[in-house]
Amino acid sequence: MLRISKRGSRGLRSRERGRSGGRGGALPKKQRKVRVEKLPPIPGLDLILETAAHLAGEKGEKVVKALAAGELTDEDLAKRTNLQVNQVRSILYTLHENRIVTYRREREENSGWYVYYWRIDPDRALDYLRQHRMEVLKKLEERLAEEESKIFFACEGGCIRMPYEEAAEIEFRCPSCGGTLQLQDNTAIINSLRARIERLQREFA
Ligand SMILES: [Zn+2]
Ligand SMILES: [Zn+2]
Repeated sequence: MLRISKRGSRGLRSRERGRSGGRGGALPKKQRKVRVEKLPPIPGLDLILETAAHLAGEKGEKVVKALAAGELTDEDLAKRTNLQVNQVRSILYTLHENRIVTYRREREENSGWYVYYWRIDPDRALDYLRQHRMEVLKKLEERLAEEESKIFFACEGGCIRMPYEEAAEIEFRCPSCGGTLQLQDNTAIINSLRARIERLQREFA
């Protein structure tokens, strides 16, 4: 509500009302300004990213990585991750459903619309991982087994990646850009999956 008792002028009161109109507009200017909080470094971020990857894949991991810097709106997130706003929203929905992220909403000064500021809920994210540890581990082990047992081909342009049998079926031609699919060394992927599995086994053992 409007509080100007210290200054106490009738003239100011009516001017304030006339200028700002709606209910939210009656707050002092300082409080109305939208704050975007920077967050302190998040402990266990790599484990939180693991949770995001489990729930929402590589794109989910991207979104949470961007949120590690601080609070962001869905549109800011889309810009930072190069994802579409709709994709970001659906990822945020999944993550929020599982209490990995949370939000704060603020009324925008001009439009009167609510803006949602998203942030990571680190404790809940780690709780989730603790509770679903076996499930997450099983998925990672399946992926590792696939990487170790198959030969992969990938488009030079980075559009697509698939096992040899599938690549042979389409004659090693990329379906999206027409480029050639090349044999891919997946040692780095295998090493990273192994490291992630080891870390998870160590963390909550
Ligand atoms: Zn689960
Ligand atoms: Zn391609």
